[in-house]
Amino acid sequence: MASKKKPVRVPFSYLQDQFKNLDPFLEDIRRLVKSTDFTLGRELERFESEFAQCCAVPYAVGVNSGTDAIFLSLKALNIRTGDEVITTPMTFYATIGALRMAGAVPRFVDSNDQFLLDVSKIRKCITAKTRAILPVHYYGNICDMDELQKISKEYSIPIIEDACQAFGSLYREKPAGSFGTTGCFSLHPLKNINVWGDAGMIVTRSKKIYKQLLLLRNHGLVHRDRCLSFGYNSRMDTLQAVIGNRIIKKLPGILRQRARLSSFYDRELSNLSPHITIPPRNPLVRHSFHLYVVRARKRNQLLEFLNENGVEAKVHYPIPIHLQPAARTLSYSKGDFPVCEKDCRRIITLPCHQHLALEQAEYVVRCIRQFYEQ
Ligand SMILES: *Cc1c(COP(=O)(O)O)cnc(C)c1O
Repeated sequence: MASKKKPVRVPFSYLQDQFKNLDPFLEDIRRLVKSTDFTLGRELERFESEFAQCCAVPYAVGVNSGTDAIFLSLKALNIRTGDEVITTPMTFYATIGALRMAGAVPRFVDSNDQFLLDVSKIRKCITAKTRAILPVHYYGNICDMDELQKISKEYSIPIIEDACQAFGSLYREKPAGSFGTTGCFSLHPLKNINVWGDAGMIVTRSKKIYKQLLLLRNHGLVHRDRCLSFGYNSRMDTLQAVIGNRIIKKLPGILRQRARLSSFYDRELSNLSPHITIPPRNPLVRHSFHLYVVRARKRNQLLEFLNENGVEAKVHYPIPIHLQPAARTLSYSKGDFPVCEKDCRRIITLPCHQHLALEQAEYVVRCIRQFYEQ
């Protein structure tokens, strides 16, 4: 007999709550429409400058998505068809999509016990064609930047950080995105700082790269009548910058509530070992918990049980990238990245966001306990 699904008690998404008080946003938009300042302009400059400040770097460039942030970063580094970029199969598809858009070939390195690119395996993947390392600060955690920067210096290979899930995360008190030649962010509605559609941001310390990125995102134009190199149209919509300017103010509160819930989960779920395994927490990192992910025994049954009981748990993601149909031409096969492959069968994402109350997290833990005790 099919079990009756209960109504949602612990939602995964929070957009309804986040934009409940619409008027201030609409007031800002009304002002923008009156000014007709629809492309680039003051609102975007303000957003870029605040974003750069949050990342403790001098420059930020607003672009139309996190994917383009990575793509344009590769372009700014002059990466061309056939160049190799070292990265991880434990990521969202866009990391690899952006890399392929630039013509680069991903050289995958397996992930570690924290779901992050295993930096100890990088050296043996470096070849004469390696042009960049693209670490992914997955789920809001940060990769081993000490070791990555050491390798980057030793081999003169630049780092591009995929920090799309890590806005507000810190490593040794320094913000995600501030370590590499560029740091790439997404403002997609499901990311920690989000707008009303697609947008992305690139941050950098290099004035040269900054200038290059300004050209690349806007047709290669220095000004209206001077086109220096053929570029792209990848400007962040000014309308999205208007939303971003309001949301970015909420960052401390967003991080606070996510930290509160995640430490609650960590504490409670550690009692459910060995059914649930919490990944090691790096004491050097302030994790922003874009996603709260643990390993679970009987993952698929647990997922189903939680969903049936009104907990919108999810899996990010069940099939690793190198085994996706899209990756066929890259000639990887099952067994190439055993840590990543095993984790994809065990990981589960529990709702953890700024619009959840502690009581809802308590309910999630009760459900998980009930599942393993039944
Ligand atoms: C979301 C995301 C991207 C892409 O960002 P978009 O804004 O959706 O294009 C890239 N990498 C990672 C790790 C992401 O989570």
